[in-house]
Amino acid sequence: MLYLSTRGHPDRRRFCEILLEGLAPDGGLYLPERYPQVEAATLARWRGVFNGGAPGGYAALAFEVLSLYIDDIPGADLKSLCEKTYTEAVYGTAAIVPLQRLEAGFYLEALSNGPTLAFKDMAMQLLGNLFEYELARRGEQLNILGATSGDTGSAAEYAMRGKQGVRVFMLSPHGRMSPFQQAQMFSLMDENIHNIAIEGVFDDCQDIVKNVSNDLEFKRGYKIGTVNSINWARLLAQVVYYFAGYFQATTDNSQRVSFAVPSGNFGNVCAGHVARQMGLPIAQLVVATNENDVLDEFFRTGVYRVRVSADTFETSSPSMDISKASNFERFVFDLLGRDGARVKALFGDSLHTSGRFELGADPVFTEAASHYGFVSGKSTHADRLATIQDAFARYGVIIDTHTADGVKVAREHLQPGVPMVVLETALPIKFAETIVEALGCQPNRPDRFIGIEDLPKRLRVMPADTAAVQAYIVEHCTRA
Ligand SMILES: *Cc1c(COP(=O)(O)O)cnc(C)c1O
Repeated sequence: MLYLSTRGHPDRRRFCEILLEGLAPDGGLYLPERYPQVEAATLARWRGVFNGGAPGGYAALAFEVLSLYIDDIPGADLKSLCEKTYTEAVYGTAAIVPLQRLEAGFYLEALSNGPTLAFKDMAMQLLGNLFEYELARRGEQLNILGATSGDTGSAAEYAMRGKQGVRVFMLSPHGRMSPFQQAQMFSLMDENIHNIAIEGVFDDCQDIVKNVSNDLEFKRGYKIGTVNSINWARLLAQVVYYFAGYFQATTDNSQRVSFAVPSGNFGNVCAGHVARQMGLPIAQLVVATNENDVLDEFFRTGVYRVRVSADTFETSSPSMDISKASNFERFVFDLLGRDGARVKALFGDSLHTSGRFELGADPVFTEAASHYGFVSGKSTHADRLATIQDAFARYGVIIDTHTADGVKVAREHLQPGVPMVVLETALPIKFAETIVEALGCQPNRPDRFIGIEDLPKRLRVMPADTAAVQAYIVEHCTRA
């Protein structure tokens, strides 16, 4: 399997080459040259492999999916990487992604039982093991530099902690994350994890990461890498749970299922798109946004309009507070018949100069719904409160704010006879303030998180200054 750039660059790459890379050289995103087709016989066999979520089933299914895309890691090694990643010990359940029935034809798929209680663990845990494996094979080191306002940073740190050959330097806005999120990240004592609290806002952190990445000499000299959501390996890992969700919601492979996905950077639902392109019988992919409705606007009108920072709202589903959807380019590439030159004109030129492009008048736009199954909707703070209250009253279940956005929009797209699976992307304890606002009580806290706010913290506070961050990196890593 070879990988190409969405912007038409002629080079082709193998999986392990793009694993440690970010963007393609022309600024595009990597995608496989084609989507392997899962024929009926294979899908039937995979249902048996997953085995209803029996111990080892998810890891075995992950190996089946991943092997179609990864041919430069020996099968036995890939298999043991999957087995090491998706364990009951890490996810607290043998099924890894158990499906919960809310009512007839309406389900929640739990993706947030990993170490940081958000779905990003599903991919990041695998990425940690893949990085360690590949770096050891090459005899190389990697210094991961990232910026976080919450979920991504903690998922990355929990995935990379204690891994050989990897160091993490994670920037976060000083004092602006929730006490729970701060405790999760700052209580890590692993020597290869460095928390840097920047005196500024999230954008300042992101600017520093960009500045360091643009300093090519520094980037090469100090082996700076990233783990952001455009990484193909992260997306690929997420494809697996669409299959696992499908097998749990159906009894045979003639049935179709829809998925509703709380969306920000379009990484999660893009994995659903890949699963559907492989032949998984998905009826609709329901894109749910919060007040930051860049994606809903596109699927309704064909206008893709990125927002400036001032127009990006801080909401109670903060992990979906995005100004542009960084993985969206992958879907548009497929929608435009894989025309790299056109994608380059839209994402490289139009977006750059005017912050928008428009496909509404293009005949292909209607195919987003008719051929690719995409529909969308938006949910606000008031909707979240009402949905959390409603789910508690009807099912006795407390859902988190992002999942509530998914449930709200899922209800608007129910089709008779087609089960709807809402992806649960975080546990409510991470966003307790809004749960208290909605229900007047605290959500449950898993035992292992009791009292984490009182643990000792390890972090360095620094001004919003690129040179200071670079000096810290130099001081804490050996030059490769
Ligand atoms: C990251 C995140 C999302 C958004 O996922 P994308 O892949 O960026 O669309 C939704 N919910 C939670 C809890 C998240 O952490």
